Amino acid sequence: MTDQALRAFVQAHVQPSAHAADRDGVFPAATLTAMTNAGLWGWNIDRRWGGQGCTSADCGSLSRRVGAACSSARALLTAHQMTASAIERWGSERHRSQWLPELAAGRALAAFALTEANAGSDVQAIETRAEAVPGGFALSGEKRWITGGGLAGVFLVFARGAAGVDAFLVPRPAPGLEVRAVAPMLGLRAAVLADLTLDRVFVGADARLGPSDGGLRFVAAHALELGRLMVAFGCLGLADACLREATRHAHARVQGGRPLAAHQLVQGLLAEIVVAVQSCEALLASAATRYDAHDPQSSLAVLVAKYHAAEAAVTASHHAVQILGARGCADDSAVQRFYRDAKIMEIIEGSTEVLKGLIAAQAGLMP
Ligand SMILES: Cc1cc2nc3c(=O)[nH]c(=O)nc-3n(C[C@H](O)[C@H](O)[C@H](O)COP(=O)(O)OP(=O)(O)OC[C@H]3O[C@@H](n4cnc5c(N)ncnc54)[C@H](O)[C@@H]3O)c2cc1C
Repeated sequence: MTDQALRAFVQAHVQPSAHAADRDGVFPAATLTAMTNAGLWGWNIDRRWGGQGCTSADCGSLSRRVGAACSSARALLTAHQMTASAIERWGSERHRSQWLPELAAGRALAAFALTEANAGSDVQAIETRAEAVPGGFALSGEKRWITGGGLAGVFLVFARGAAGVDAFLVPRPAPGLEVRAVAPMLGLRAAVLADLTLDRVFVGADARLGPSDGGLRFVAAHALELGRLMVAFGCLGLADACLREATRHAHARVQGGRPLAAHQLVQGLLAEIVVAVQSCEALLASAATRYDAHDPQSSLAVLVAKYHAAEAAVTASHHAVQILGARGCADDSAVQRFYRDAKIMEIIEGSTEVLKGLIAAQAGLMP
C-alpha cells in the first residue's frame, strides 16, 4: 500500500471512529474488520508466511499514519507486530508455520504479556512460574495491562523456569487461562487492555521461544526494540496531527483583531510543534535504517528515538491544547485525546526514566 493509500485508508476507516472509541473505551468492530481486510496485521511478517514483508520504515509509516488518527489502533498493531516478529526471529519452524499465516491474515491477533504487578520497569522481578511437568510446562501467575489482551488469540507469556525467564506461546482459549478486561485508562482507552491469570496453564515442551533462559535477553529484547521503534513512529503521527489541528485553529481563530497565528507567542508554540515533528522524523529515519541494516548501533538509535518521540508527542499535544484553549479541552476535541494518549507513551515500552538509563549504558557512559 502506498503512503497515499494508507492515508486514505486511515481517513476512511480509522479516523471517523477514533473519538467514539476513546470515549467508550471500546475498539470498534468495523475498524478491526477494515484493518483485517486491508491486510494491516501482516505488514512486518515475511511474504513466505502470507505477510507483506515490509521494512521497518514502511511499518513505521503505518504506525505514523494510524497513530495520527487513533493511538489505540496503533497500539494494537504494535503489540501484534512485536509478537509476530518474536515468533519469526526466535520461534521454531513449527511455531512459524502454525502462527504466522494466522497472524498475517489477522485471523488471530497477538499480545505481548510481560508486565506483572511487581515487575513493571524491573522485568527481572517476574514471578510467573514455568514448572516443568511431563510433556511440557505448567504456567502460573498474573499479567497486567496487556494491550490487545481482550482480542488476542495468542499470548507471548514470560515466565520464570528452573534456569531463568523463558518466553512461551499460549493460545487462547486454554484451560486455566483467565482474561479479564481492564477498565479504560487515561489514554489508549480503546486498546482492549486485559489482565491475565494463569492457573497451571499447560503448554507443550515445544511452546518455548528461543533458548532456555533467553526469554528476556533475546525474545523480549527483540520484541521491545521493534515495539519502541513503532511506538516512536506512532508518537510522530500524533505530533503530526497536533500540528495540523493547532495550525488550522491558529489561522481560523481571531483574538485581539488578528488570527492567533499572528501572535508571536502562539507562533512560538507552533514552532515548537514543528521542531517536535521534524526532530522525530530525523531520528526515526536514522533509527529505522539502522534497524533494517542490523547495525550494531541500532538499539541505541531506537532507544534515543523512542525517548525523544514520547517527549515530543507530549510537547506537541500540550501546545495544541494550549492553542485551542477551551475548545481543546472539550470532550469532543481530538487534541485532548492526543494529550492523554501522549502521556502513556512516556510509560510504555520502557518509561522515560528507564530509557535514560539504557541510553547511558548503551552509549558506554556507565562506570
Ligand atoms: C496503556 C498501557 C498499555 C500497556 N500494554 C502492555 C503490554 O501490552 N504488555 C505488557 O507487558 N505491559 C504493558 N503495559 C505495562 C507497561 O509496560 C508498564 O506500565 C511499564 O513497564 C512501567 O511499569 P509500571 O507501570 O509498573 O511502573 P513502575 O515500574 O512501577 O515505574 C513507576 C515510575 O517509576 C520509575 N522507575 C521505575 N524504575 C526506575 C528506575 N530504576 N530508575 C528510575 N525510575 C524508575 C518509572 O520510570 C515510572 O516513572 C501497558 C501499560 C499501559 C499504561
